[in-house]
Parts: sequence; structure tokens; C-alpha cells
Amino acid sequence: MKTLSDLLAEGVAGRRVLVRADLNVPLDGDKITDDGRVRASVPTIKALADAGARVIVTAHLGRPKGEPDPKFSLAPAAARLGELLGTEVALASDLVGPSATSVVGAVTDGGVVMLENVRFDARETSKVDAERAELAEELASFADAFVSDGFGVVHRKQASVYDVAQKLPAYVGGLVETELGVLRKLTDDLERPYVVVLGGAKVSDKLGVIANLLAKVDRLLIGGGMAYTFLKAQGHEVGTSLLQSDQLDQVKGFLAEAEKRGVELVLPVDVLVTAEFGNVEHEVVATSAIPADKMGLDIGPESRELFASKLADAKTVFWNGPMGVFEIETYAGGTRAVAEALVKSEAFTVVGGGDSAAAVRALGLPEDGFSHISTGGGASLEFLEGKELPGISVLES
Ligand code: ADP
Ligand code: MG
Repeated sequence: MKTLSDLLAEGVAGRRVLVRADLNVPLDGDKITDDGRVRASVPTIKALADAGARVIVTAHLGRPKGEPDPKFSLAPAAARLGELLGTEVALASDLVGPSATSVVGAVTDGGVVMLENVRFDARETSKVDAERAELAEELASFADAFVSDGFGVVHRKQASVYDVAQKLPAYVGGLVETELGVLRKLTDDLERPYVVVLGGAKVSDKLGVIANLLAKVDRLLIGGGMAYTFLKAQGHEVGTSLLQSDQLDQVKGFLAEAEKRGVELVLPVDVLVTAEFGNVEHEVVATSAIPADKMGLDIGPESRELFASKLADAKTVFWNGPMGVFEIETYAGGTRAVAEALVKSEAFTVVGGGDSAAAVRALGLPEDGFSHISTGGGASLEFLEGKELPGISVLES
């Protein structure tokens, strides 16, 4: 793979460089609630701009339906990027139309401009190769080189990630290089005990990674919404908690596999339950006694201690997915406990997952308390699953 350093060594002064960044930040109206991804995108963009390149940033935000939708404008991200860079970042009002053409035409050496949300164009995510290739061609016409730095999307075969890399000299960006380096440490020469903590909403999102991890980890801690499918598989009643009944058989298979391989699988022993989602009133019950009309929204105090103790002697930790509905303060305690255990730990600690990373920052934990906070949830999971990442393999070819 050619790298950002290679590109800088070639010399970029006056050259137009298209950078695929990941600026998919959570918004409240037009306010960014967690700017982690914008900050992570700065070093690559700044290195190019400082070297005199004309930087053209392309990115997506949210899931618009393949057409312009002001709710998903990149304007807040462009403004924040400009603040962080200390320079104005002009945002085109379209992706490859007249506004983009004029904004790109006006970019100066060392300047940074941004194209509007790439998912405003249905061709970006099209399953039809020719449609994606056509958009990629239009994007490529703006630039002389392409830098792939949106780690959160490298597992996607999309026009601005995959196809465009075939149309321009393509380089791996600094952020993607860092992320891959960290993830390789989790797969190659890791120090044991290796403990993985999984949480979040859906088991189905994480089945692949669980299957793969069972062959690698010493201990697997499961909390969050996905824990209930595991508890049910063990024969517990889970009330109205999040449950994926269609995954029960597979989860039973995981329990058996863990046992066979000697992987210690740790589930919550108590949970915070409530009658209606979002209710602040709650009670703590043992996982063997979840009332039929209540749902679990966080792991309980005993589970927090249990999880922390299972992390205490770890040498390598990967954590993906919050332990509860951390967006509501009442149900943030489990996530906070796991995060604090990682901060305390001397282990190589990696946090992956958009919500998990946002939770760490929202809870006010020091980012340098972790070895690495990944910007990509799905991408890091797919890497750990051993899947090929199209946005990476295209750079290797
Ligand atoms: P990540 O983005 O870190 O990979 P996920 O997207 O898988 O994490 O899951 C995050 C979501 O899971 C959060 O919005 C959180 O509220 C939700 N969640 C966690 N625990 C529960 C639970 N017990 N019931 C319902 N939702 C939950
Ligand atoms: Mg998420």
C-alpha cells in the first residue's frame, strides 16, 4: 500500500488531493454532540494542507436516502473542521454539481474545501458497479490523487471508498494506517489474558465477530442489550428486555463453543429494570429474577464489580458496545464502570464502536486513559472477524 508519507515525499504542493474522511458525527439539530471523528480526521488533512496541497474532502453523514436532505448536511462538520484547522473550510452545496465544480476550482494551495454529503447521491451506495464507477469518475475528475482516511467506512464497497481508489493514484491515510496497526496488534502478537467486552443493542450485528473471537479470547464479557439473548439462551426469563429470539440457537451454539474451548464467558448477574423504555424509576434485580413486565437497561452494581474484576488482570482488552442505555444518565453506570476499569488497567486497551467511543467522551473519561479509541465500529469488527475490507484491499491492488 502506498501511504500518506509516500504521497508527501512525492510532493503535493499545488496538487489537488481528494481525501475520503469519516465525519459521520452524532448531531442534535445542527449541533455536533461528539466531534471525535472530526478531530481524528485533522492530522491527515493538515499534513496535506501544510505541504501545499489543495485538499478536497469528501464524507458522508447519517443515512440520507440517496438524495439531498438538509438534515444530513455536512455544514456542522465543515465548520468544526475549519475551527480545528484554524482556516475556513468552504462547503460545496452539492457533491459533483456546479457548486462543487466552482468550490474545487477556487481552492488554493494549502486550502481545504469540502463536498456536500456523498450519500446525497444514490450512486455512492449502489450495488450496481457501473453506477458507483460513474460517480467515482466524477469525483476523481476533481483531483490528482486520492487519500483513503475514513476508517469508519473502509468495510464498505462504496464509490467514494472503493471505486474512486481505482480511478486515481491512491494512498492510505494516516488515520487508517494507525487504526490498522492497532487492530493487527489484536490479531497477531497479543499479550494474554485477552479479554473482550461486548455490548450494544443487537446481537445480530456482532454474531460474526463473536464466532471468530471465541477462537482467540481468554474471556468474553457480555453486557448491554445483547446480553439478554445470552441470558435467555441460558434459560433465564428476560421480561420485555431486548431479545433476538431468532438468534437463540446460534447463541446457544456460542455458549457450547465457549465451554468446549475453555473461554470464560461472563454475563451480568444483576440488572437495572424498568417498566417502560426511558423511565428513570428502576430497580435492581438478579438476572434470574427479571419480572415479566420489565426490561433491563443497564448491568447492575454486582455485575459492574464482576466485570471490573474480570478486567483487572487483562493484558489486552477490546471493548465494543455500551453496557446499557448510557444516553440516559440513570443507565450509564455500567458503561462507566467498564470504561473506568479500562482506564485503570495497564493492559493494551482498545475501544471500538461509534457509540462506545462517544460514551467514553460523554462520560468525561480521559481519552488518553485508553491505548486507542477507534473511529470505526463496523470496520473494526469486520477486521477482527477476519473479513476482507474492500476499502483496504483496493489500496493493496
Ligand atoms: P457501538 O456503536 O459502540 O458499536 P451499538 O451501536 O452496538 O454500539 O449499540 C449502542 C446502543 O445500544 C446504544 O444506543 C445503547 O443505548 C444501546 N443499548 C445498550 N444497552 C441496551 C439495553 N439493555 N437495551 C436497549 N438498548 C441498549
Ligand atoms: Mg452504534
